[in-house]
Amino acid sequence: MQQIIIDAHTHAAGVDFYNLFIPRKPLVQSTRDLILKMDLYGIDYSIVMPMPFAMYYDPRKVSQGEWALSGLEEFPYQVLNTTLLYESQEYSDRLFPFMAIDPRTKVEEQIQFLTQQVERKKIYGLKLHTLATNSSATVLSDSLFAKFMKKYNLPIIIHAGRDTTTSPIHVLNFAKQNPEIRVCIAHLAGFDNSVLKQSLEIKNVFFDTSPFLSHCKFAVDDISSYVSSDRFNTNYDDPVNALLELSTYLKSKLLWGSDEPWTSVSNPKGAALSSFSYKDECSILNQLNSMNHENTVNEIAYTNSLRFLYGDASLRLTKKANKHHKNDH
Ligand SMILES: [Zn+2]
Repeated sequence: MQQIIIDAHTHAAGVDFYNLFIPRKPLVQSTRDLILKMDLYGIDYSIVMPMPFAMYYDPRKVSQGEWALSGLEEFPYQVLNTTLLYESQEYSDRLFPFMAIDPRTKVEEQIQFLTQQVERKKIYGLKLHTLATNSSATVLSDSLFAKFMKKYNLPIIIHAGRDTTTSPIHVLNFAKQNPEIRVCIAHLAGFDNSVLKQSLEIKNVFFDTSPFLSHCKFAVDDISSYVSSDRFNTNYDDPVNALLELSTYLKSKLLWGSDEPWTSVSNPKGAALSSFSYKDECSILNQLNSMNHENTVNEIAYTNSLRFLYGDASLRLTKKANKHHKNDH
């Protein structure tokens, strides 16, 4: 069987203006960087989102807790979404662009922009970064964005963190209230036991693993700003086995994603917390294959991702990546 691999969570086509200001690594990735890395490690397709922080706000003020406008965009993500679409054109047979949204302001302007793009068949879904927009998933219910996703059958990836605003509980509730919308809770909801358990009853909920090695390290080190203190019970010292157990538990809900270029994580002040590479994240799939778990790889990196993208896993994609010999790297 020839394996086809989809990375369900990447970012590209610009600069993260908040990280640039702090400074905090990483702060930039082009779509060409991403495609080169995908080719090196045998990744055929990626869901790609803009960098999290929109130029709409002034990063100097946001770092002091004040969401002041920068005056540089007419509506949030105008520049980063446009740049992502522009850069992705060259690789439109490899990338599934998701457009970033900010539900707090200028919603009609954003919907107008998104409608133009979806009618040109350029976008595959939406992304809400709850932390970078300071908004909870609850504001999406009954919003124009929810109507838009239903009308065009588009899924959404929502960042889930550990504070009140970004809590995955809000994402779970949004999914419950909108069974027609496929919703991916990013970063495995910090491995939160209760959220993972409740999701088993909600058909339209998915989770992405991104960035898995960093989150396993945070679980081992018990860093509560990134992972839940009531975690799914597994040995996070053994990420390959932890991923297998999560896949067995979550079945068709689990999507393999890396968060590249955020496979390494630094804290909001710029201090490094973990140091992994895209190669490290992709090697988990190779390890699963070498342990005869090709079926798990096929589920988490292909059929589940297709079901999330299209609502239908019977669709087929073709092999795209130039896979180098493993021993070359
Ligand atoms: Zn991300």
